[in-house]
Amino acid sequence: MARKAVAKRRERRASVRVARLPTTMPAASGPITVRHYCQGIGDCHLLRFPRADGGDFWMLIDCGLHSSVKGGPGTIARIVADIAERTGRIDVVVVTHEHWDHVSGFLTETEAFGRLSVGEVWMGWTENPADRQAQELDTFKSQALAALQMASAAFNRTRGLSPFQLALGKGVDAVLGFNFGAKGERVRAARDAAAKLASEGIRYLDPTGRPPLTLPGLPNLRIYVLGPPRDARLLGLTERASEMYGLGGSGWPLATALGNALKVSEGAGTVDYAMPFEPNVGTRLSDLRDPRDDADPANAAFYRDRYLGSKTARSEDDVSWRRIDADWLGASADLALQLDRRTNNTSLVLAFEFVDSRRVLLFAADAQVGNWLSWHDLAWTVDGATVTAADLLSRTVFYKVGHHGSENATLKAKGLELMRHEDLAAFIPTSEADAKKVGWGEMPFHAITEELARRTAGRTIRADDSWIAEEDAGPSFPTPSGAIRALRHRPGLWVEFDLA
Ligand SMILES: [Zn+2]
Repeated sequence: MARKAVAKRRERRASVRVARLPTTMPAASGPITVRHYCQGIGDCHLLRFPRADGGDFWMLIDCGLHSSVKGGPGTIARIVADIAERTGRIDVVVVTHEHWDHVSGFLTETEAFGRLSVGEVWMGWTENPADRQAQELDTFKSQALAALQMASAAFNRTRGLSPFQLALGKGVDAVLGFNFGAKGERVRAARDAAAKLASEGIRYLDPTGRPPLTLPGLPNLRIYVLGPPRDARLLGLTERASEMYGLGGSGWPLATALGNALKVSEGAGTVDYAMPFEPNVGTRLSDLRDPRDDADPANAAFYRDRYLGSKTARSEDDVSWRRIDADWLGASADLALQLDRRTNNTSLVLAFEFVDSRRVLLFAADAQVGNWLSWHDLAWTVDGATVTAADLLSRTVFYKVGHHGSENATLKAKGLELMRHEDLAAFIPTSEADAKKVGWGEMPFHAITEELARRTAGRTIRADDSWIAEEDAGPSFPTPSGAIRALRHRPGLWVEFDLA
């Protein structure tokens, strides 16, 4: 009890200037409360929907933090404790996609989650083991992951890498960080730990040809499933300059697949059939680096001075730039990027619509270009009228910003420019400092944060906003049509909106 009271006192209300409140609201349409945890590069959102019978319906969307963030498991433990303090029951756990920064908590806090009662677990069709197309995606994923792990090991053990190659190695490790925990736990284990919480079954959601979802006891709510797309072309489309606010220019080189090169570098009797000479011609690189006792000393000195680069050489005598033996590792960067973005494109995207006010809350997970574009191929018939994605976007009053604010996860003409509601507000689960540390470039992407600031008139909140750490702080902003009823925060832990 005492702890609860303290927690209550520590919550702070920001002033929200409500210009106009709707005069009549049906009994079942009290505000939805959305609590965003502010752990940085990672998503965890707790939603409370008022039931018609006066009770609450709880939904948790993701629970994770990228493995590169210091003190991650401790942060997640605090988050899960806070969830448990708020509710002992979660009616639906939504797992948007298989990345560590969205699911790590289900594994690192298995015990704490086990003490909660969980109803259903929702995932995209891409996670359904019985789905043919999902199985194919899975094969690509496991092959790519295995290759990248080998590439990472090769980057780590190869001596004399150029600064460019070192940067590539760092990039590959950052992508592996979305797929593995700090202790090497596989993201699949975390996703499966979430699935195991379901006491009332798992629903695999598919956006094609389905009416919006409704839930018993929540007559004021419709849920539209927008992604992941079934169209393989769109599922693989992660970038298209004409649809975006600009390109981040993260400097990834184009390259071909890694497979053969990796197998060969692992040694042990593997033959590279692409090499120009017979395997018995030539000398192994390892023999050049550490010459055997019977090696010709003149030969060893030649390679040391002309190719490997002497350890004692002054920089102008350093010849290691001549080396090409690690160049093939560059291909891993392309594969890493593909794996990363394709997995983001498997994001389960949900739009929540209030039946009475027709306002919409959009949770875009980490959807990238192809996922966004696919929404516009969908249409729903509701009460005899056709509802389109453009229509839902035009009524969006709240946007959980895609992929921590990256350049290819908030579309321009087919996305943000359609969000024209006067009350539009947004939350970005991001940390610019952490993104810089791991070399992700501009995240969040400035052109997007600027456009959001303009469209939301100050109603964009970022997980790394400095005021969130403080007791008596918070933005003040207008809410022209009264969609935002309140904004609270618990210093350093979460921000919470009441939305109607
Ligand atoms: Zn993410």
